[in-house]
Amino acid sequence: MPVADSATPWVAELFRSSIVPTLVDYIRIPNKSMMFDPNWRANGYMDQATELFAGWAKGQLPAGATLEVVRLGERTPVIFIDVPGTGGRQGDTVLLYGHLDKQPEMTGWRDGLGPWTPVLEGDKLYGRGGADDGYALFASLTAINALRRENIPHARCVVLIEACEESGSVDLPAYIDHLAPRVGQLSLVICLDSGCANYDQLWSTTSLRGLVLGTLDVSLLTEGVHSGDGTGVIAASERIVRQLLDRLEDSHTGQIKLAELATAIPRQRVLQAERTAQVVGDDIYAKFPLQPGVQPVVADNTELILNRTWRPGLAITGAEGWPAIGNAGNVLRPFTRLKLSIRIPPHVDPDAAGRAVKQLLERDPPHGARVRFENVSGSSGWDAPEVAPWLDKALDTASQRHFGKPAMYMGEGGTIPFMYMLGEKFPRAQFCITGVLGPGSNAHGPNEFLHLPTARKLTLCIADVLAEHARQ
Ligand SMILES: [Zn+2]
Repeated sequence: MPVADSATPWVAELFRSSIVPTLVDYIRIPNKSMMFDPNWRANGYMDQATELFAGWAKGQLPAGATLEVVRLGERTPVIFIDVPGTGGRQGDTVLLYGHLDKQPEMTGWRDGLGPWTPVLEGDKLYGRGGADDGYALFASLTAINALRRENIPHARCVVLIEACEESGSVDLPAYIDHLAPRVGQLSLVICLDSGCANYDQLWSTTSLRGLVLGTLDVSLLTEGVHSGDGTGVIAASERIVRQLLDRLEDSHTGQIKLAELATAIPRQRVLQAERTAQVVGDDIYAKFPLQPGVQPVVADNTELILNRTWRPGLAITGAEGWPAIGNAGNVLRPFTRLKLSIRIPPHVDPDAAGRAVKQLLERDPPHGARVRFENVSGSSGWDAPEVAPWLDKALDTASQRHFGKPAMYMGEGGTIPFMYMLGEKFPRAQFCITGVLGPGSNAHGPNEFLHLPTARKLTLCIADVLAEHARQ
C-alpha cells in the first residue's frame, strides 16, 4: 500500500518547518571531509554537523527506534539509527545510506552565494553539502515516518550516515565490521547519494565509476634558476609532465590509453545508455555551465553517456610548484606537482589500476628527471545486480505517482565506495541508488544546490518502495 495523498502536504510541511531550517544550519558548518581538512578533529566541525544531525533525528525517531553516534577510536563518526520493523519478513533489514561530510569550497560561486552561506531561492537551497549529501538523513527518516503515521507496514530499517565519503569512505570498512552483527541480513539497500538526469522522474543508478587518486611529482632541479639561463639546457618540469601525461591520455581525444583501466561494457548497459540519451537528449552536456561555443567531446549522446559511466577519464584537480601569475618571475621552476584524479569503470580493480598508472608514469623518465607518482589511493566502481521485478515495478509506480512520469535507469560517473563494499558483503541484496544531483546542482563545484521539490518527491517514492518491500 503506498502512502496516502495526504502524505504529500505532510512531507512538504516538514521540509518547510524543520528540514530546510536544519539544512540551513548545516550548510553554515565548514565540515570538509578529512582529506581536505587534516585538522578536522581539532577543528570540531565534523562533530558539530554530527551533533546537529543526531539532534534533529532524535526528535524524529519512530517509536521503538534507537540512535547512536558510533565512534571507533580516532575515526570519523557514524550515525546509526535502528528502526524496528512493523511488517516484512522476520530478520529482514533495509539499509538506508547517506553521508554528512562535505567537499571543499571550490571557487566561482555566484555573487551572494558561497559554500558556507545558505541561500534559499525559489525551489533551490544553495550551499555546500545540502544536496551532497545532507538531505539523505532527513529523507530517510521522513520516508519511514510517512509510513508510520499511516500504519503502513515496513521491514526493519537501519539508517547509516557516515562522515568520510568524500575521502573515499576509508573509515567505513571498520564500521561495517563493527556494526555487521547489528545490521543483520540486508535484502534492500537504499542509497540517497547519487544523481538524476532530470528533475522530472525517479532515476535509479545502475553503475558507478571507481577512482584512482595520486600525486605526480616531476623535478629536474633542486632549486629554481633564471629561465634565461636554464631554458634550452635543462628540460622544464612541465614539459616532462606533458610527455608523461601523454602516455596515459590521448590529449586530442581524452581517451585513456592504459588497457588496465578499461573494461568491456555489458550489452544491457549500452541499451540503457541509448534509452537515457533518448530521454535526456542534449542536456547530457548542455546541463554544464559551458562557455559560448563549447561543444562536447563527441557529437553522439549515447557515447557521451558511456564515456562518463563506463570509460576511464582523467582530471587534474590540483597543482603545486607554480607561483600565482601576479608573482611569477622568469624562472625555470624546480618541480611540478599535480594531483591526478582518474575515474575508472566498474569491474576494474583500483589497486591494480593504481599500480599500472604508477609504473606507466615512473618508467624511463625523460632526461633522467626525478618522477614519482605517490599517495596513490583507489576506490572500486560498482555494477548493480539485476533489478528484481518487484523493485522495478515499485520504482516505476512510485515515479508515476509522485513525479507523473516513468522511472528511469542510468549509470553514474561518480564514485560511492560503500556500494561496492555492500555488494561484496550482501550479494543477494537489491539496490535502490538514487539522489538529487541533477542538472545544475553542481555537487563538488560552485553554486551547489538542493532541488527541494525533487527531495520531497524522492522522500515519498522511498516511502512507497519501503511499503512495497515489506509486502514481498
Ligand atoms: Zn556524496
